[in-house]
Amino acid sequence: MSQASNWHEAYIGLGSNLDAPLQQVRTAAREISALPGIREPRLSPLYSSFPVGPQDQPDYINAVMQIRTDRSPLELLRQLQAIENQHGRLRSTRWGARTLDLDLLLYDDLILNEPDLIVPHPELANRSFVLYPLADIAPADLRIAGKGSLTNLLANCAANGIHRIE
Ligand code: ADP
Ligand code: MG
Repeated sequence: MSQASNWHEAYIGLGSNLDAPLQQVRTAAREISALPGIREPRLSPLYSSFPVGPQDQPDYINAVMQIRTDRSPLELLRQLQAIENQHGRLRSTRWGARTLDLDLLLYDDLILNEPDLIVPHPELANRSFVLYPLADIAPADLRIAGKGSLTNLLANCAANGIHRIE
């Protein structure tokens, strides 16, 4: 009998709209790549998008990373939150401006509903700034646990002024 792999495929959403957002996202991508228990990191192209929620804040830079990890979903979330904190993230207004937001979007085809961690990320299907970069690096036939195919989600999501910047 073959042994199940300890390496899980995960996707992480990166976003920033404060303090040199391009740099924040590029640096965060390097920091994620250097985390213990991470393999084969791939960063999507970067996008610019209008803010969700309060409109009196700068535009966002967004990207998605694909990784392999041997950590549990909660361990991975804690690793990501430590990086957010290093970037001086202050948790204030919901959906308010932030130096760095790292969301765990997908972890294999797992569905999780813990108090601290919901996977797939609950807003994934509504956010063009997640779906577009995800589609750039994910297999064309990717399915989102409980939500159907990525292709279908993209077809049903308004682009909302996002554009690829590189
Ligand atoms: P958002 O990313 O929706 O703008 P925040 O980053 O401010 O919101 O939310 C952070 C909180 O969301 C954390 O306390 C974390 O425990 C919770 N959370 C639940 N599911 C996830 C997930 N899949 N990825 C990241 N944070 C999550
Ligand atoms: Mg977040």
